[in-house]
Amino acid sequence: MERIKMKTSLVEMDGDEMTRIIWKLIKEKLILPFVDLKTEYYDLGLPERDRTEDSVTTAAALANKKYGVAVKCATITPNRARVEEYNLKEMWKSPNGTIRAVLDGTVFRAPILVDGVTPYIPSWTQPIVIARHAYGDIYKAVDGKATKGVAELKFTDDNGKEKTLTVFDFKEDGVVLAMHNTVKSIESFARSCFNYALDKKMPLMFSTKDTISKIYDGEFKRIFNEIYENEYKEKFEKAGIEYIYTLIDDAVARIVRGGGGIVWACKNYDGDVMSDMVATAYGSLAMMTSVLVSPDGVYEYEAAHGTVTRHYYKYLKGEETSTNPVATIFAWTGALKKRGELDGLKDLSAFAEKLEKATISTIEIGKMTGDLTGLFKKDGVTPIKLSTEGFLDAVAETLKAL
Ligand code: NAP
Ligand code: MG
Repeated sequence: MERIKMKTSLVEMDGDEMTRIIWKLIKEKLILPFVDLKTEYYDLGLPERDRTEDSVTTAAALANKKYGVAVKCATITPNRARVEEYNLKEMWKSPNGTIRAVLDGTVFRAPILVDGVTPYIPSWTQPIVIARHAYGDIYKAVDGKATKGVAELKFTDDNGKEKTLTVFDFKEDGVVLAMHNTVKSIESFARSCFNYALDKKMPLMFSTKDTISKIYDGEFKRIFNEIYENEYKEKFEKAGIEYIYTLIDDAVARIVRGGGGIVWACKNYDGDVMSDMVATAYGSLAMMTSVLVSPDGVYEYEAAHGTVTRHYYKYLKGEETSTNPVATIFAWTGALKKRGELDGLKDLSAFAEKLEKATISTIEIGKMTGDLTGLFKKDGVTPIKLSTEGFLDAVAETLKAL
């Protein structure tokens, strides 16, 4: 069989531990037999990041910006224990943080739905995509303890003009916090969300607490509305989708009683919390995809989970593992589909869709990894737990039969 040809290179970012093992197997079993894969390869595995003093991560992010589409394997974000384990020169920063800083993007997390794995909220028959603003607020805040006295917030502009707000007149011990965001980052966030919703033809909901935080959250609301009216309204109407703004508490209520099928744009903290709730409610972290979309339309696809360290240590001891590769497969299909779309390669996009279908069907006929067997309930189908490699072989078999 003739393998599918590619035009532009896909940026491939390899990673660590169990996901690095899965990465190689996915390529060998599910992609290389069908696609004449053209990639620009960057090894973001921790040893190579250490050897290059992390310059490989920046190089990969710049390549992503240049070519437009990347697929990334999960990577270790080193902490003190990892510095010892890998004998690192330094506690290198999170690769995802570095890539986000270069691309200035928004992270979208979407669950992969399978017939047989019912969400804890059974009315969620369509995916809920969480779009998390990945800059500022409490993640870049300063905080401290207060004693009896006055806490003030002082702003000095470039001309030396000062403005002071009283935070609180403390009569007893307490705590204070000051956080920020920038108009540029909020604008990027808004455009990424509007672009993603259009791309997926899904309605978009944005929520904040602007009734309480009138200026701070009010600015988020204003920017979203303004960009929508000026740049996206017509496109949304043409695509038959809507944009709504609502308060975060109303948004939560709408999400719980709705059926999914929506992109929910969340401020940084809301997105952090809600994406874990949504991931858990749909069943397994291993069935959650993640894509970073920049405001100028650059895409980086990955699984939402980490390097699955516990399974990797078992693998190293020669024990059998049953690690779920589905989100990593979907990172590849997402990237190949996008590459096909941008380059006008219909066969490449069609192959990616076929691989997604094969992956889902394999689970639906009862073949799956251990994280799913306990969740799976379908009349007449008994779930069978396969090994990591056994599951990938089963997907390859389904794919060949499609
Ligand atoms: P994790 O790798 O996502 O794993 C947490 C647990 O979730 C696993 O121990 C496993 O549970 C379950 N799990 C996750 N993915 C699974 C899969 N594909 N198949 C089956 N079970 C799965 O998170 P972590 O243990 O907190 O972090 C491990 C490393 O990953 C850390 O070094 C962290 O820095 C890195 N990390 C990277 C990224 C990224 O690159 N985007 C994201 C998060 C974490 P059981 O052990 O109960 O089977
Ligand atoms: Mg979190």
